[in-house]
Amino acid sequence: MSLKENNKKEIKFRPPIVVILGHVDHGKTTILDCIRKSKVAEKESGGITQHIGAYQVEHNGKLITFIDTPGHEAFSAMRSRGAKVADLAILVVAADEGIKPQTKEAISHIKKSELPMIVAINKIDKAGAQIEKVKNELAVAEVYSEAIGGKVPVVEVSAKTKEGIDDLLETILLLSEVEELGKITDEQIAEGVVIESQIDPHLGASATLLIKNGVLKLKDAISFDSAFGTIKQMLNFKLEVIKEAPPSAPVVVSGLSQVPGVGEKWIVCDSLEVARKRTEEIILRGKEKGEPMDVLVINDSQKVFNLIIKADVLGSLEAIRESLKIIPQEKIILRIIKAEAGDIAESDIKLAESSKSIIFAFRIKKMSSSFSYMVERAGVQIFLYNIIYDLIKDVREKASLLLEPEIIRHALGQAKVIAYFKEQAKQQIFGARVVSGKIENNVLADILRNKEKIGFGKIVQLQKNKSNIKEGTEGDECGFLFEGNIKVEIGDTLDVYREEKIYPEL
Ligand code: GDP
Repeated sequence: MSLKENNKKEIKFRPPIVVILGHVDHGKTTILDCIRKSKVAEKESGGITQHIGAYQVEHNGKLITFIDTPGHEAFSAMRSRGAKVADLAILVVAADEGIKPQTKEAISHIKKSELPMIVAINKIDKAGAQIEKVKNELAVAEVYSEAIGGKVPVVEVSAKTKEGIDDLLETILLLSEVEELGKITDEQIAEGVVIESQIDPHLGASATLLIKNGVLKLKDAISFDSAFGTIKQMLNFKLEVIKEAPPSAPVVVSGLSQVPGVGEKWIVCDSLEVARKRTEEIILRGKEKGEPMDVLVINDSQKVFNLIIKADVLGSLEAIRESLKIIPQEKIILRIIKAEAGDIAESDIKLAESSKSIIFAFRIKKMSSSFSYMVERAGVQIFLYNIIYDLIKDVREKASLLLEPEIIRHALGQAKVIAYFKEQAKQQIFGARVVSGKIENNVLADILRNKEKIGFGKIVQLQKNKSNIKEGTEGDECGFLFEGNIKVEIGDTLDVYREEKIYPEL
């Protein structure tokens, strides 16, 4: 297709990028798996089950890109950042359940994003399928199907029997053509959006990108809103190493300065220096505008608190993101590694482990015990909430633990060493009489000799008459198990105190 004669630029169309939304359990994952399995030949994919966040299939000689994490965080992030990830949305509604709360939420997201929509009524193989009822509910929810004079194509499918799946793919291609989706002009600079990002143990900061325009090449200098780099390695969705990738292709790239945020836009620059400058300017502008979210370049005085947020629905996620903005970030940057609707998955645990993040989950059911075991083994902390206020309060408190605490010393009492028994490894055992105040187990003590501090240590165990005690008062003769930095002698005084750490509030 060519434009006016005097315009040398030729219009081309890249493959449509499709996102699948809908209520939990209505079959989004099954549809995505079904399309992936039937269209990406097993030998071609090498039996790879690892998902990078998007994949491509060919139907009737044409490519379609699917964002393959349903209810994908990219979709909410895309809206909050104003980046457009998908060209088209598929709304999945189970034929036996009809429209549910998350369906309504998905409809509202799709409408706000002004994305063309296709409705896939799924599970038509089920005995309880009520297709006509679902169609009526759609009209009530102001989704007007072609059958009643509206614009929205409705396709009846079963991800289980594969019935209607080809129809769905054809409808995607048809709608893309009619709506002229994915229009690009030649000679465009490569740019796109981030749909996933992670810290790879071997490759460092890496990200899954969707290319919206241009051709992305190995060694390209790339600038995101919060990171930059030179592409060191590039993989396609089958995890094959590639040197360049065309528009609409999902790729995993490494060689980045930081982990960019999901939904961030990126663009290829002339040089690494230009990329770095561009990113730094964006960060600076964001700071001036008071948009501290996902700002990843840190100065020496700042600490970073990594968190992963999981929530029941996208609406909650947005509300949490908004509420987090009230936490000041001059001293500590809250870095949202991932924010996603849906249950906590194994991939979240892995991400939390590799990125040293805490998982904050909102209105998500408790995990099974086998899952909890895995979480424990990975050393990942997960906190569950039912009230957003509680979640925000906890983020604030836990993040403030990164700040230097003010240490307050509470004097307890003094004890004089009267007998020395032995020294073993770093520990010493001796007897001392409490001469003033009280002493406690598990507190600190300065060692005074001739009234001068000559060392310090910690009381690890306290005994009286050979039984463990928690505290001793004036006149008590106690046995001490002590860990100190010097050897204590008879006649020394222990000046015993408790330390309280007070963390500044954020
Ligand atoms: P998601 O939460 O929307 O991703 O839903 P899933 O894809 O996980 O599907 C939820 C359940 O519905 C699973 O047990 C699927 O096996 C089942 N399911 C999905 N599609 C179909 C279908 O077309 N027919 C039937 N009978 N079951 C389906």
